[in-house]
Amino acid sequence: MPDIEITCVQCKEVFLFGEKEQEIFYQRNMMTPQRCQKCRSKRAGSGNNVPARFEIVCDHCGKHDHVPFQPKVGRSVLCRECYNASRSKVRMA
Ligand SMILES: [Zn+2]
Ligand SMILES: [Zn+2]
Repeated sequence: MPDIEITCVQCKEVFLFGEKEQEIFYQRNMMTPQRCQKCRSKRAGSGNNVPARFEIVCDHCGKHDHVPFQPKVGRSVLCRECYNASRSKVRMA
């Protein structure tokens, strides 16, 4: 498989989609990348600054809150206040 030249959809720069990379992508059944390495790493970096938020209903006080992780089904979730309270209790014990 020859290297493929792809124009980055974000910065419009042409980048090489190398033979080895192509193999990895095809093995994993992934689509051809649309962004160059730079934009892809930039995107991953900015993703860290804006964490995903999931709405939860506190199991303890019933308040709606957002947590930066996916709550597990069937497991109790706590709002930040109750979570902090339960944690400080643990720390004191
Ligand atoms: Zn780019
Ligand atoms: Zn609560």
